[in-house]
Amino acid sequence: MATTTHHRVTNQTPPLSGYNAFRLNPLLLQIASGSNAETLKDFDQIGRYSLSGEAQELAEMANRNAPRLKAHDRFGRRVDQVEFHPSYHALMRRSVSYGIGSSVWEDAARGNTNGHLKRAIRFFMLAGLDTGHLSSLSSTNGAVAALMTAPHLAKEWVPRVTTRKYDSAHKSPVDKSCLTIGMAVAEKQAGTDFTALTTRAETVGNGLFRLTGHKWFLSSPMADAFLMLARTPNGTSCFLVPRFLADDEHNHINLVGLKDKLGNRSAATAEAEINGSIAQMIGRDGEGSRAIHEMQTLMRLDGALISSSIMHASLCEAVHHARHRKVGGRLLMDQPLMRAVLTDIALDVAASTALSMRLARAFDGARANDVEGTFAHVMTPVVKYLTAKIAPAAIAEAMEAMGGNGYIESSVLPRHYREAPHQSLLEGSGNMMALEVCRVFKRTPELFNVVLSDIESNLGDKAKDTSKVLRAAYELALDDESAARILVEQLAIAAAAAELYRLETGVLADAYADTRLGSNWRASYGMLGTRFDNQTILDALYPPVA
Ligand SMILES: Cc1cc2nc3c(=O)[nH]c(=O)nc-3n(C[C@H](O)[C@H](O)[C@H](O)COP(=O)(O)OP(=O)(O)OC[C@H]3O[C@@H](n4cnc5c(N)ncnc54)[C@H](O)[C@@H]3O)c2cc1C
Repeated sequence: MATTTHHRVTNQTPPLSGYNAFRLNPLLLQIASGSNAETLKDFDQIGRYSLSGEAQELAEMANRNAPRLKAHDRFGRRVDQVEFHPSYHALMRRSVSYGIGSSVWEDAARGNTNGHLKRAIRFFMLAGLDTGHLSSLSSTNGAVAALMTAPHLAKEWVPRVTTRKYDSAHKSPVDKSCLTIGMAVAEKQAGTDFTALTTRAETVGNGLFRLTGHKWFLSSPMADAFLMLARTPNGTSCFLVPRFLADDEHNHINLVGLKDKLGNRSAATAEAEINGSIAQMIGRDGEGSRAIHEMQTLMRLDGALISSSIMHASLCEAVHHARHRKVGGRLLMDQPLMRAVLTDIALDVAASTALSMRLARAFDGARANDVEGTFAHVMTPVVKYLTAKIAPAAIAEAMEAMGGNGYIESSVLPRHYREAPHQSLLEGSGNMMALEVCRVFKRTPELFNVVLSDIESNLGDKAKDTSKVLRAAYELALDDESAARILVEQLAIAAAAAELYRLETGVLADAYADTRLGSNWRASYGMLGTRFDNQTILDALYPPVA
């Protein structure tokens, strides 16, 4: 109901807007504490932007005005374009300028060894604003890893990917200031199973191929190129397929529809026919899954960051609400059961955040340090698994804490809630993550001990019991794949607890470890009991805003 002079609105929460998302997140501040002044300035700028009223309005508009397919122009010629609302382009412009698709590779070229962690912190803050527009930047960042395995293509493409000047024009890549790259794997009959893909690739000479078939899910349909899987006589191979060829000639990636999907509304996911598109092979003939895996690995880290970020953003709103809303004459925050619920969620959000950032740190260290390399290799699916699995329940509970207001679109929580299951499905769904971990251990059993030692080294007096549980879960899962999720969940929780201890989070780490480690099965939030001072934990993680 609109406000009139006769109807003064009381007991409603002021908007959580105009603050700094970086400064409001003590855990993130701690994770970023080793950064230099220039990087901290960068984080501050993005922190202010992502909680500004202007950015929040852009995100809302981009999600209220979903992209539309424009298959033909007014003369009936195929154009295969998706039209986005200007707010989407504004979000893209900003995130490109913050280097979300490029900074890892800029840092690597400069010899900086913390590029993944720096980007992860920026990505985390921007994901709380809108996840949709980040999709094509996430795939672009990942695609560079795959391109690096094909030096001749990398030389041509990477310099045009690693710029910070967003260019949404529909034209040949050579004429653009900045490129984005999408992924095109899934088909109608197969998404998980790469061996069942049917899109065909025929050689046409000069190192070029012609691809014919279809793709059933194409996020970032307006990307300048796609890494696409297609079959050659030697098996499934990976190709770089530009959307336009030289002289702006259309490369016959024909869009036949946009998905009416559950998740964010700002990004489009298309169905496409591939009608003789010209492509170049990446990696070896018949080994396409290897090249795509390079891309997916980085996108899985982004998935973990998105899950953690949207949980955090939702809980920020819920905690803010509880500090302002009175029920029965008492602030919700002062009601013991509400505080226990919020604190219990906060432990999962902190663990997810710490674990995702731990993974980013492992990516940074992987080249120079074997333990970090093993952690990145083994734990990417583990981290993605846990963060994605807990996000829907955590966001739903945060939404409930806000009562009816949380359920309303403009509260943003419904947007985060819709997005949460998406992250579990993409780049390998839950079961695939669990099975992949078992496959890695079966192939190289010694990796389990490397990861276990790393976890144990930070767990202190909890190491012995945790180690026992993890070893039992390992034996079980390797013997019977139906137990794979048990191993992956326990590994993720143990690694998260270890990281919270490494970050010296004190009572927070104790509370997480005591309530989560060793298969303490709980189906809902609010089970913290009275052992921990939840007010202290919550205030430390979510300091009250002025
Ligand atoms: C919004 C959205 C955007 C997307 N964007 C893209 C994109 O840009 N590019 C792209 O290529 N794809 C994209 N996808 C597709 C996505 O990657 C696939 O949907 C996903 O890989 C699963 O494939 P599928 O749908 O064929 O399911 P299936 O392969 O049929 O699998 C169904 C379920 O069975 C499980 N399963 C499979 N094998 C086993 C097993 N052995 N044991 C136990 N469980 C098993 C899987 O984990 C999954 O949960 C997108 C999907 C969505 C929803």
